[in-house]
Amino acid sequence: KPISDYSHEEAAAVIGGLRAQLIQYAQAYYTADAPVVEDSVYDAQYRDLQLLEQAFPDLVTPDSPTQQVGGAVLSDFTKIIHEIPMLSMGDVFSEAELAQFDQRIVAAIDQPSEYSVELKIDGLAISLRYEQGKLVEGSTRGNGTIGEDVTDNLRTIQTIPQQLAEPIDLEVRGECYMPKVSFEKLNEARDREGLPVFANPRNAAAGSLRQLDSKVTAQRQLDTLMYTIVNAQQYGITTQAQALTQLQDWGFHVTPGSIVAQDLETVHDFIDQSVKQRDQLPYGIDGVVLKVNDLNLQQKLGNTVKVPRWEIAYKFPPEEAETIVRDIEWTV
Ligand code: NAD
Repeated sequence: KPISDYSHEEAAAVIGGLRAQLIQYAQAYYTADAPVVEDSVYDAQYRDLQLLEQAFPDLVTPDSPTQQVGGAVLSDFTKIIHEIPMLSMGDVFSEAELAQFDQRIVAAIDQPSEYSVELKIDGLAISLRYEQGKLVEGSTRGNGTIGEDVTDNLRTIQTIPQQLAEPIDLEVRGECYMPKVSFEKLNEARDREGLPVFANPRNAAAGSLRQLDSKVTAQRQLDTLMYTIVNAQQYGITTQAQALTQLQDWGFHVTPGSIVAQDLETVHDFIDQSVKQRDQLPYGIDGVVLKVNDLNLQQKLGNTVKVPRWEIAYKFPPEEAETIVRDIEWTV
């Protein structure tokens, strides 16, 4: 039914139910790397919760999944504090919602924005720290402020430079993923050995990186694509597009094919192309990311408690069409 038909009491009850359900799903997904429902089911319930909380703001509490970066910190690993938090990302599911995002940006910065448009790689976020050009620490996003120290495991990934040509201090972030071929091989082997198979390459990557024995990680053939330089302005960089070029110059692999778009038409073309190419790519993508290209404007826009205001993910529709039974009518 439409949200306007909900009484306060009804909304509170539905919100409570949705939160409990989402927390349970997230636990299976982030702690055990073994989701119990498809992402599209999770996303739909999450959206219901968001809409109800928007309509009844007094019911928003800090422990709601909409107010926290989803993730887990396993006690097996040393904890790492992210001085600059590793946030989640807002998402939209239609071109109309993408246009609304753009309108919000234009209104906030008082001018049209240029966007860096990138593939959304389906893996898990990692952070790498270099001192004097030497890789000293690698971590997972964890809950956004506290991550897991997986340095030894990340050292087994060939595309991560252990030593940069320049002796600089640096923190870079990006995606650790499992190539489709490695994923198929891994699941076939696990199936033969009677072990549970991974639901998707993202969970397989997360499970493989969070291993106590780095030899196991090494066998899993993980890979990386980087997209963020923390405090990029320190290195004379002024746009996200420049950051991607600089990352490449430093020897990192970066999300390929990114473009700078001046208008939404160019973004829509990029989305169409990405959907067409999706199956041919050696890694999974689950959408396209739009980032305000100018780093000063990014800073001006800032973050909410959970997501940067200057970027958004346009999520592709789920590959296998499934019907999601829902209580709430969505309007854009
Ligand atoms: P997200 O994965 O949708 O988006 C944020 C992440 O995108 C970043 O942390 C980063 O790792 C990644 N990313 C990939 N390419 C990028 C690029 N080019 N630039 C910047 N970032 C890029 O958000 P989230 O908060 O990590 O997780 C939510 C997702 O997890 C949803 O898709 C949800 O369906 C899924 N999930 C599923 C279940 C389940 O039970 N199936 C449970 C919890 C969460």
